[in-house]
Amino acid sequence: MRAVVTGGAGFIGSHLCDHLIARGHRVTVLDDLSTGSLGNLVQAQGSPGFRFVEGDVLDRDLVDSLVSEADTVFHLAAAVGVYNIVDNPLRSLRVNLHGTENVVESAVAHRVPYMVASTSEVYGKNDADGLKEGDDRVYGPATKSRWSYAAAKSLDELVAYVHGVESGVPCVITRFFNVVGPRQTGRYGMVVPRFVDQAMSDEPITVYGTGTQRRCFGSVFDVVPALPLLMDAPEAYNQAVNLGGHEEVSIKGLADRVVELTGSRSPITFVGYEEAYGEGYEDMQRRYPDTSLAARLIGYRPERDLNDIIRSIVEHRRTEGPVPEPV
Ligand code: UDP
Repeated sequence: MRAVVTGGAGFIGSHLCDHLIARGHRVTVLDDLSTGSLGNLVQAQGSPGFRFVEGDVLDRDLVDSLVSEADTVFHLAAAVGVYNIVDNPLRSLRVNLHGTENVVESAVAHRVPYMVASTSEVYGKNDADGLKEGDDRVYGPATKSRWSYAAAKSLDELVAYVHGVESGVPCVITRFFNVVGPRQTGRYGMVVPRFVDQAMSDEPITVYGTGTQRRCFGSVFDVVPALPLLMDAPEAYNQAVNLGGHEEVSIKGLADRVVELTGSRSPITFVGYEEAYGEGYEDMQRRYPDTSLAARLIGYRPERDLNDIIRSIVEHRRTEGPVPEPV
């Protein structure tokens, strides 16, 4: 099988490449290296049949030519990270809207099964206990740029879904809940690599807001194997499927845990949202996934707890050094 992985030089994408290659698949990566890095693909580069193409998902002809040669497409290319979205709202919208449209339209035209990566952000301010795939979404106004990511990803889901239903080409939508692990950079906002970097350099740990907001972090090593399994599960077609972890923690609790597991001397500091993200930022108080649909479809059971996840990131940083800068 030849798989095209858009965003394959990024955090989740590069782990997916390694996973597919280990299972004997040939992989083509399309990535513009805007936030991803070739350093994430060192392992993949040496494998037979691996191909890296530097390019943009907004380049319709390029997308079409790669998809036309593929047996399956995993679309992970996106503008991600809160700082990135808030700093570059227009570019983020373009990539997240038209990039997905290009990939999905090519996949449907060539009848290639496709997966579109989505996010728990689509639930917006809904902080129900155990968010289910069919739950309501609550967004803030367009003037608060944080919501542009949620809105664009919601439309991506619609594009993927409607094309899937109308064409009969297999389509799966995956909703990632705070997926973390080695190779993720904290440069664009993601809290776990930021705290680990701060702790390992004995710098102050920056808890935003009161630190009482809660998240449930999922390990990339639990989530990635689920992606090809879902593509092979016809009952998953035309569905959005939550994927994430099972252990919930407050952000202050996360900071304590990182300090403890790294043996750091870092103090924990509290930073106001406005200082962190600029004016008008709205944070989610809670975001916890119900992953029973994935459990039913493919037997999904996240195995790594928060300590495992933090340790895997710390270990990687100790052996490989800081996550490489984008070129
Ligand atoms: N956060 C924090 N310190 C940081 C970066 C993030 O306290 O240095 C907080 C952030 O405000 C949010 C949580 O950690 O409440 C998770 O942030 P992240 O950007 O990782 O994911 P998301 O907000 O999308 O859940």
